[in-house]
Amino acid sequence: MSDKLFSVKDQVVLITGGSRGIGKELASAFVDRNAHVIIAGRNKKTLEETATEISTVSNSAYAEICDVSKIEDVNALIKSVMTQHGRIDTLVSVAGINKRMKAESYTTDEYDYITDINAKGAWIIAQAVGKKMITQGSGSIINVDSLNTYAPLRGTTPYAMSKASVLMMTRGLANEWGRHDIRVNSIAPGFILTDLTKKVWSDETMQAWGRTNTPLKRLGKVSDLVGAAIFLASDASQFMTGQTLRVDGGFTAGINWPIEL
Ligand code: NAP
Repeated sequence: MSDKLFSVKDQVVLITGGSRGIGKELASAFVDRNAHVIIAGRNKKTLEETATEISTVSNSAYAEICDVSKIEDVNALIKSVMTQHGRIDTLVSVAGINKRMKAESYTTDEYDYITDINAKGAWIIAQAVGKKMITQGSGSIINVDSLNTYAPLRGTTPYAMSKASVLMMTRGLANEWGRHDIRVNSIAPGFILTDLTKKVWSDETMQAWGRTNTPLKRLGKVSDLVGAAIFLASDASQFMTGQTLRVDGGFTAGINWPIEL
């Protein structure tokens, strides 16, 4: 926290999906490091409880209701943040959802629900914040894709497609906005225990499979993602853009044999 290279002190940090899971942990980490944090999500009660919980005596976070798939919500959010702070230094675009099932079982509405939030929503918020960052001439955007952008897990095809879109958006925006000193990177988490994945990991067979196939031999915690987010928001990553940090205990590094060699 005292190392200036990794400092996020006084940054205005907007975190979508900041009310629960990974986004909540990252919001708390930025608050602890003296950033001005705004958390956004759809549920007012959860958002406000989280804002109260992660605020400290000297630093605080506040909540803004916003569904990232709705452009009118996003425009209202950006207007409110700009009115209060006049700038956005870092966007951490965490909001995301999933529905797992056989590819042949998805309805078009279910496909739309996933891609509207994960792909279109990530685009809407990045574009809206990016416009402000272009005027500022600075900023860092941190997207969240997935281990599914490396190889899709069975039963998650629309999710994997939506996250592949986030990966390509990260590269495309980095390529276009580097000239404005805006860096765009992403974090690809591995198996992290949250509401999103609770159902999958409550199965002991799945837990054992996850541990066996992860080189670091455990599932991830939300706190495992803090280092990568602080790094990407700070000057420590000042010559890095268009990249994905895979924080997955090595899951995507290779494939395991089923026997010991
Ligand atoms: P989570 O615990 O379910 O939290 C999701 C967060 O996103 C909540 O704050 C939720 O709040 C918000 N959200 C959902 N839809 C939204 C929308 N339309 N507009 C605004 N906010 C919305 O999930 P998580 O596990 O922390 O996942 C966070 C991100 O990491 C997601 O993008 C996910 O795809 C990605 N990821 C997770 C894992 C994992 O293993 N957990 C692995 C790879 C990638 P509301 O519901 O109140 O809106």
